[in-house]
Amino acid sequence: MGVELTVTANELVNLSSNGHQAELNQQNQHKDKKKQSSSHNPPTPRPWRIEDSEALYRIEGWGQPYFSINAAGHVTVSPKGDRGGSLDLFELVQSLKQRNLGLPLLIRFSDILEDRIERLNACFAQAIARYNYSGVYHGVFPVKCNQQRHLIEDLVKFGKPNQFGLEAGSKPELMIALASLDTPGALLICNGYKDQEYIETAMLAQKLGQNPIIVLEQIEEVDLVIQVSQQLGIKPIVGVRAKLSTQGMGRWGSSTGDRAKFGLTIPEIIHALDRFRDANLLDSLQLLHFHIGSQISAINVIKDAIQEASRIYVELALLGANMKYLDVGGGLGVDYDGSQTNFYASKNYNMQNYANDIVAELKDTCEENNLTVPTLISESGRAIASHQSVLIFDVLSSSEVPSILPEPPQSGESQVINYLWETYQSLNQDNYQEFYHDAAQFKEEAISRFNLGILSLRERAKAEQLYWACCQKVLDITRQQEYVPDELEDLQKIMASIYYINLSVFQSAPDCWAIDQLFPIMPIHRLDEEPTRRGILADLTCDSDGKIDRFIDLRDVKSVLELHPLKSGESYYLGMFLNGAYQEIMGNLHNLFGDTNAVHIQLTPKGYQIKHVVKGDTMNEVLGYVQYDTEDMVESIRQRCEQALEEKHISLAESQRLLQTYEKSLSKYTYLAS
Ligand SMILES: *Cc1c(COP(=O)(O)O)cnc(C)c1O
Repeated sequence: MGVELTVTANELVNLSSNGHQAELNQQNQHKDKKKQSSSHNPPTPRPWRIEDSEALYRIEGWGQPYFSINAAGHVTVSPKGDRGGSLDLFELVQSLKQRNLGLPLLIRFSDILEDRIERLNACFAQAIARYNYSGVYHGVFPVKCNQQRHLIEDLVKFGKPNQFGLEAGSKPELMIALASLDTPGALLICNGYKDQEYIETAMLAQKLGQNPIIVLEQIEEVDLVIQVSQQLGIKPIVGVRAKLSTQGMGRWGSSTGDRAKFGLTIPEIIHALDRFRDANLLDSLQLLHFHIGSQISAINVIKDAIQEASRIYVELALLGANMKYLDVGGGLGVDYDGSQTNFYASKNYNMQNYANDIVAELKDTCEENNLTVPTLISESGRAIASHQSVLIFDVLSSSEVPSILPEPPQSGESQVINYLWETYQSLNQDNYQEFYHDAAQFKEEAISRFNLGILSLRERAKAEQLYWACCQKVLDITRQQEYVPDELEDLQKIMASIYYINLSVFQSAPDCWAIDQLFPIMPIHRLDEEPTRRGILADLTCDSDGKIDRFIDLRDVKSVLELHPLKSGESYYLGMFLNGAYQEIMGNLHNLFGDTNAVHIQLTPKGYQIKHVVKGDTMNEVLGYVQYDTEDMVESIRQRCEQALEEKHISLAESQRLLQTYEKSLSKYTYLAS
C-alpha cells in the first residue's frame, strides 16, 4: 500500500493512462480478495438499559453518593448522601422553568455542602481517634473558592458544630470573613499579600472575639506585623507559610519550591523567627502553613509534604517558637472522572486516607521529639464546594456530518470516483483500517484534481460524499469494538456532531477553556434510551475556543460525548457537575453573556424548598459593566426612528415595534430564551 497520490502539474498529463493508475487497480483487486474472506455477523443488539448509561457516563465513579439515575431514566440528586431523601433533577428543572427561571441555571444544593463539611470533619475525627492523636482538627474554608454570600452563610452555619472557620486570601475576602464568621472558637486564617490596613484590621478583630491568625507570606510582612502590633499594643497570633521543597504535580505543581510565588524560604523563616525574638513576640509565632497546590492527585505527594512540614514544625518549636497549629492548606482532590487514579482529573486516595496520613505523620514526628501535637487546620476548598452545584443548560440545535447514501458512479465521471465507490463498497470489518486510509487518499486526490481544473464541482461533491460514507462505515465498525486504533481517534472528532448549547463556557466553566479542566457532563434525562450520537459542545460565544471537546473517560480523555438525537419540540437538557468551586467567580463576560440564574435548594421532610433565587444578569446590568447607559441607548434608537420616519424609510408601526423590542430585551436575560 502507500501509493503516493499527490498530483503535480507534470504528472497530470499522464494521469489517466500511466502506471499510477495500474497501481490503483491492483490495489483494488487486492481488496477484493480480502473482501471474499470476510463474513461477519454482528451480535444482535439488546435493548439499552439504565445500567448502560450509568457505566457510560461513569456516574457512580464521580457522583456517589449524591448523583444517580432513576427508573425513569432521569438523574436524581440525593443531597444528604446516604442519609436519605432524593429528588428528580429533570423534574426539578421543569418546575423551576415554570417559575420563570430560564436556562442556563445553576442549582446549588445546600444539603450537599453540609454533607461535605460533615464528611471532612468526620474523617479527621476518625483519624484522630484511630491514632490517639491528642490534638483537635479545626478546618477552615478558603473564601476564594466560592465567595457567594448565600454559600458562605450556609458554610458558617453548617460548620458551627465543628467550629469550622474561614480563610481569607485578600482584603475583600477578609472583609467577608470578618462579617460572616460568628462561630465561637472558629479560626480566621489571614493569608494573601497584606498591607498595614489588612494587618490592623485582622489584629483589631481579636477584640471582637474573632480568632484571626496572620500568616506571613512575604518577608516584608514580618516587620509590618511587628510594627502594627507595637502600635496597637495587641499581641497577634502569627503563622509562617513555608515554601516546601516537596513539589506537587500537575497544573499547580509550581505552587511550592524555592521559586514559588508565595511563602517564605527556610532562611527567611529563620530570619522571621529572629526578628520576632528580638521584638519580644516569639510567643506570637504559633502556626506553620503550607499549600502545595490544588487538586493533588497522588497521595505520595501529600505524604512527602506532611513529612517535610512536620519536621519544620518540630524544629521551629525547638527553636523556641510557641508552636500550636499546623495548617496543611488545600489540595484535597476531587475525582472528576471517577477513575480513582493519579490522573490529573482524579485522585488515587480518599478523604479518609488523606486525614489518616496527615494525622499519623504529625503524631509520629511530634512524639519522637516529645512535643505536644498541634491543632490541625486544613483549607480544603475544592473538596467542599465542588459537589454542591450543578449547571443545567439546554441544547439549541445540532449539526451532523451529512449521511446521504452515496450513489454509484456514472459513466463519464472521474476514475477517482470509481475508486472511492469501490472502497466504500468493499470496506468491512477486516480491512477498515487500510481502506480508511485509501479513502482519505482518494479524497485528497479528488481535491487536487479539482484545484487543477480536471474535476467538476459536482464530481467533487460526489467524491466528498463517498469519503464521508466510508468514514461513517469505519466509525460504525469501530464502535462495535473494544479497542480503537489511535490513528482512528481523529475520525471520531471529524465525524462528531456539534451540539450548540445555550451557555458561555467563559462565564460558566472558565477552567474548561483556560486550563483544560474536565467536569463530568451528561444528559439529565432520556437515560433509558441509547445515546446514538457522538458530539462535541459548542457554546454561544463567537469564539472558536468556546467549545467543549474533552470529556471524562476511564482512561485518559475522550474527544466526543455520547448524546441523544434531538427531538423536535422537546428540550434536551445537559448537566455539568462538580463545578461549585472556582468557576463562578472566574467566569468572565466574553461576548457579554452574564451570570446565569442560580437557585438554592434544600430538602424538607415533604420534598424540597427553594431557599434563594439569584437572578442572572440582565442586558442592562451587563452593559452597565462596560459603561453603557441603556437609557441613552434607547434614546439614540428613538431618535433614529424619528429620523427614518421623517424620511419615510420606516412606518410608524415598524418603528414602534423595533423600539419596544429593543427596550424590552435590555431588561432580559443575556442567554437565549428556550
Ligand atoms: C486556593 C487555596 C486553597 C484551596 O485549595 P483547594 O485545592 O481548592 O482545596 C487553600 N489554601 C490556599 C493558601 C490557597 O491558595
